[in-house]
Amino acid sequence: MKASRMLISTLKETPNEAVISSHILLLRAGMIRKLVAGVYNYLPLGLRTLTKIENIIREEMDKAGGLEILSSAMQPKELWEESGRWQKYGPELMRFKDRHDREFCLGPTHEEIFTDLVRNQIRSKKNLPINIYQIQTKYRDEFRPRFGLMRGREFIMKDAYSFDTSYEGLDESYKIMHQTYCNIFDRLNLKYQIVLADTGAIGGSGSHQFMALSDIGESDIIYCSTCKYAADQEKAESNPSLVNYNDSMLDVEEVETINKKTIEEVSSYLEVESNRVVKSIVYKNLVDDSLVVVLVRGDKDVNEIKVINELNIAEHELVLASYDDILTINSVEGFVGPVNLKDVRILVDEEVTLLRNFVVGANKKNYHLKNVNYKRDFEGTVGQFRKTIENDICPICGQPLSLERGIEVGQIFKLGTKYSEPMNCTFQDDDGKVKPMVMGCYGIGVTRTMSAIIEQNHDDFGIIWPLNVAPYHSVIVPINYQDEAMKELSDKIHDELVSAKVEVVLDDRSAKAGFKFKDWELIGIPYQIVVGKRASEGIVEFKDRRTLEKTEMPYKEAIELIVNKVREL
Ligand code: ATP
Ligand code: MG
Repeated sequence: MKASRMLISTLKETPNEAVISSHILLLRAGMIRKLVAGVYNYLPLGLRTLTKIENIIREEMDKAGGLEILSSAMQPKELWEESGRWQKYGPELMRFKDRHDREFCLGPTHEEIFTDLVRNQIRSKKNLPINIYQIQTKYRDEFRPRFGLMRGREFIMKDAYSFDTSYEGLDESYKIMHQTYCNIFDRLNLKYQIVLADTGAIGGSGSHQFMALSDIGESDIIYCSTCKYAADQEKAESNPSLVNYNDSMLDVEEVETINKKTIEEVSSYLEVESNRVVKSIVYKNLVDDSLVVVLVRGDKDVNEIKVINELNIAEHELVLASYDDILTINSVEGFVGPVNLKDVRILVDEEVTLLRNFVVGANKKNYHLKNVNYKRDFEGTVGQFRKTIENDICPICGQPLSLERGIEVGQIFKLGTKYSEPMNCTFQDDDGKVKPMVMGCYGIGVTRTMSAIIEQNHDDFGIIWPLNVAPYHSVIVPINYQDEAMKELSDKIHDELVSAKVEVVLDDRSAKAGFKFKDWELIGIPYQIVVGKRASEGIVEFKDRRTLEKTEMPYKEAIELIVNKVREL
């Protein structure tokens, strides 16, 4: 391929809207261009890499017995009503009507579609288990699309769905996909961590996420370096830490705390540690407009996912209560506490139940209560409603937990019969009974993975693509393509590489050599052959993009080096 015939759209400057490396480099290298927020066009170089990532995923899915299909992004409301998600999914679901007023959405995920497909195609046990997948465009109206391909409103996902006749069968299908994901992310050269995950809006009984490790990741991973426990922060558990469990209970005392509302203000004014002041956060459940008060120790935060799971509602159905809402439970903002609240549900983090003589709001402006104790002074539903943080106690081995950041590139779920039951996706078992199929679902963010690869593979000069996903394996840069000897040798190397099935660009552009080098470093082509002064002797310079090392060598040797690397793929 001649560079003069390509669409090379590199940018010198960092575009304003980009802050993370992968976003900046995808734009600067001319791989993608923004259409509107969270929606991108893929230019030729970007598409080549994207296709290679897709093909690696495809190969591994096929090896695992997956059957590829392609379904539509357009999904009818009726199917989403059958599963109960039309109401539950919330504002991320992009809904629209056709000219006949029939309602649709653009699929953010495809459980309903695949369940419908399978119930119409498969009745007999003989055809199960089956794993069907696709690599297809998804739509989610993200509240804040950002970081380029990392969080788009339109993105490409590989989604697979398994259908089994039993839970043991599901366990096996899940295990195969777990291993397949390891194979895929290993082949993509990602450094990743597998973590226990919450099942979220998709639902089901068990789930793991695959997190590419990166400081810019939006997911917090809690892990134990002793026993290898690892979980997404939303899902993470910890053993409760004790502060003063053995103290004897004192009498409750009302104290004046004028304008002291925050944990810091109250703890410094009353001279007690923040972990002995208890936060009472009031939420509103939008499903029935009821209020719920969640108590966690002052040094911890509420894990809203655990609250949502306890209430069995969707994420968007929980909001913070307003000033007026709080008045309805005979309390006042800034001074809420669990004692003598008017009929309201109270969720109590277990650490609070193990605390003695703590401070809470008195439900009266400018007052708090001291020496409050769980059970003696109030009761509620006890559970883990705190967010697990660094140095909390590992629930498995008791050692301190650590925290790191990751990019969620994939997630797998055991769905069970969550979709097959309401949607009647059934089979006839040997005993003659009709039973719901047992499902799993498995997603990989293909475009997000492309960003994650860049986050883990770049330097100050640009992207450093691993060879198997680079847009081209190699590039030949003649210092001056008008020079007869340089042109002749460049063409010859080009032709030899092509016949050895190496993907190669010949940079025949008339630009200065320095400019061309910069372009290819930015784009991240793994191997560069520079044809210069010594062309007539057949000597070239070989440059490795990762190490930036340059070595002079006979052109044959440079070709051999590249051909061997490509053969190893
Ligand atoms: P997140 O928590 O990051 O919003 P999710 O858990 O909602 O993601 P899933 O429903 O598990 O996402 O979708 C499967 C995969 O699709 C994710 O693991 C992720 O890699 C990718 N993905 C999800 N949302 C986006 C998005 N807005 N842009 C790009 N990729 C996405
Ligand atoms: Mg997920």
